[in-house]
Amino acid sequence: SKESGRNQLFFFEPQMQQKLKQRQKMEQGLKQALANEQFHVYYQPKVNTLGHVVGYEALIRWQHPEFGLISPDSFIPLAESTGLIIDIGSWVLEQACEQIAKFSAQGESLSIAVNVSQRQLTRTDFAELVSTIVVNSGIDPSLLELEITESMLNDDLENTRQKLTALSQLGITFSLDDFGTGYSSLYYLQKLPMNVLKIDQSFVREFLTQETDYAIVKTIVAMAKALSLKVVAEGVEEQEQYEALVALECDFFQGYLFGKPSPLS
Ligand code: C2E
Ligand code: CA
Ligand code: CA
Ligand code: CA
Repeated sequence: SKESGRNQLFFFEPQMQQKLKQRQKMEQGLKQALANEQFHVYYQPKVNTLGHVVGYEALIRWQHPEFGLISPDSFIPLAESTGLIIDIGSWVLEQACEQIAKFSAQGESLSIAVNVSQRQLTRTDFAELVSTIVVNSGIDPSLLELEITESMLNDDLENTRQKLTALSQLGITFSLDDFGTGYSSLYYLQKLPMNVLKIDQSFVREFLTQETDYAIVKTIVAMAKALSLKVVAEGVEEQEQYEALVALECDFFQGYLFGKPSPLS
């Protein structure tokens, strides 16, 4: 009824106001977070079929003075919508390239994968921004891998193709992250210079007990092989999962079984 509708409105208003306030506070904090050195890059190891670490994925964390350690899922969308992701994304790239340079100085050839957001990729100067950071760091560009997701690839694929091609000519590699969770994946594989497929952890989680998930994982690996792409399985938490994925000829593995994202020092 009208009456209860009105009551509902009164009931929800303070909550909504509180949410709005919190969002404003987050946004204000996010603006200052880079300057205040509140961001940290955590690294999760990626291993090969022998269990040797071959590289890492860079995953950002926000150490908030009041809210504690905030996971990227709760602030990346805000960073995207406010445009702050441009500076934050460049910072993560710089950190990752610096880390690759450190590895190289120690005689270790380890790669680092960095997540790219849609807002970064859409910029006309995306390729210039990335190549400047890579060139300034002095690293071997083939040690940098950029992760993009299907969901950020909608319109203007030709534009994206040109940017990725320019960067891949420098030696930078690309992976399609969260593979299988979007649509038109195959179309993107046909059009874009991809090197790696990352099987989303939602398929890996129960693939040993769910026949459908097993079939999907098996099919993704077979298709990747046929297209000369490498395959990374995400979210590997158990030894049995690892062994079964090795048997399916998956190339690389990430997950809590090998290490949670953590600071490298
Ligand atoms: P993602 O790229 O799909 O990263 C994988 C997520 O799965 C990470 O969450 C990682 O900590 C988590 N994970 C890894 N292994 C396991 C496992 O065995 N089990 C389970 N349950 N989870 C596992 P995280 O670090 O919270 O990052 C969440 C998302 O935030 C990332 O998903 C990525 O989309 C985004 N993100 C993180 N760092 C950045 C960044 O620097 N830039 C951008 N644009 N996005 C980022
Ligand atoms: Ca990723
Ligand atoms: Ca992923
Ligand atoms: Ca994800």
